[in-house]
Amino acid sequence: MSLETISYAQFGSVLTSAGGPIRLPLSGSIEITFKCNLRCLHCYIPDFSGKNEMTTEELKRVMSEAADEGCLWMLLTGGEVLTRGDFPEIYLHAKKQGFLLTVFSNGTLLDERMADLFAEYPPLGIEFTLYGLSDETYLKTTGFPGRFTRVRRAIELMMERHLPLSLKAVAMEPLANEIEAMAEFWTARWPRHRSARAPIGSSRTTPPTRNGSPNGSRTTASSCSPHGRRSPSCPAAPG
Ligand code: SF4
Repeated sequence: MSLETISYAQFGSVLTSAGGPIRLPLSGSIEITFKCNLRCLHCYIPDFSGKNEMTTEELKRVMSEAADEGCLWMLLTGGEVLTRGDFPEIYLHAKKQGFLLTVFSNGTLLDERMADLFAEYPPLGIEFTLYGLSDETYLKTTGFPGRFTRVRRAIELMMERHLPLSLKAVAMEPLANEIEAMAEFWTARWPRHRSARAPIGSSRTTPPTRNGSPNGSRTTASSCSPHGRRSPSCPAAPG
């Protein structure tokens, strides 16, 4: 028996047209934490303490139930997902459910150990939000010094492992003069990677174009917060 090869967009389209009428929850997202190591100007999270968050076991149960109901695309986001010490366990459980996974992060906590885990068990996509192109700008936008240096290192760790990384930025006033430079920062270092830009001040995020390949990385400008939120995973989902 041979299987027909179809594009990723066709795959998404077939599933959504088959799953829609029977109300299959094909795509989901879980905010696994409200904790974060940054304090961005635009962030709407009222309490970063992490009080009353779901436990590891509760999150695993919810993901298993979602998979049992037919969910295929899953987004893990926060807060900052890497503030959870149990993130590797949560992530690997999600992988075991067969999800096509997307992870949103600010990138500042990503180390070699985590990059190796992503390389061994790759997600469909990882998205970092950039809050500037220098430690000085990060101090203004996130309240902490030295964070751009950390993000730049995390980007390198991702690229060294050919992981499907996307960069995006929030279209806010302190970044008005840096959005273009962010795209240049990306294409100057990794010229083989595409760069897609939405107009600064746009009221919506740039729809994703996923190909699942290691070279599918890109930059976008986004005005949503806190992490350029959208339903990112299904290629047929509205942007
Ligand atoms: S916007 Fe994201 S990175 Fe910034 S403080 Fe909020 S959760 Fe953290």
